[in-house]
Amino acid sequence: MPLIFRRRPTAKLTEVVFSREIIEGLFCLAKDNHPREIFLLLRGRVRGCSVYVDELVYPVNTIFGLGFSGFQLHTLPLDPSIIGSVHSHPSGSSSPSTQDLHNFYGIVMVILAYPYTLASTSAYDKSGNSLMVRVINSLEFRA
Ligand SMILES: [Zn+2]
Repeated sequence: MPLIFRRRPTAKLTEVVFSREIIEGLFCLAKDNHPREIFLLLRGRVRGCSVYVDELVYPVNTIFGLGFSGFQLHTLPLDPSIIGSVHSHPSGSSSPSTQDLHNFYGIVMVILAYPYTLASTSAYDKSGNSLMVRVINSLEFRA
């Protein structure tokens, strides 16, 4: 029987993990721009069933608009460490829109819904399945 090597992990993702500094920075950015929508990319790594967000990436020419946000795909470098995106929903809905699911970038999508707290934050995988959002302190995060 031949051996089959897979390039991508087959484990099903269950959670997105943020350090407290990064998630609180996102809440501040979303509050400062409310009622405009923010959009950033997430740089990070996959460990087992968890996605760890190491950094936020602000793509060139990103628009924080009323009822929309976005960036031009061609301005992005080819960067395999970009694992997903985060955007805000000033409306307060924590569910992804059809447009969100059609414009999925990476392997996870995080939505910060108004009033921009952990309780109003949600994450999804590419199939639209809900993922847990976990926050840990920075020392634990680097371990
Ligand atoms: Zn959305």
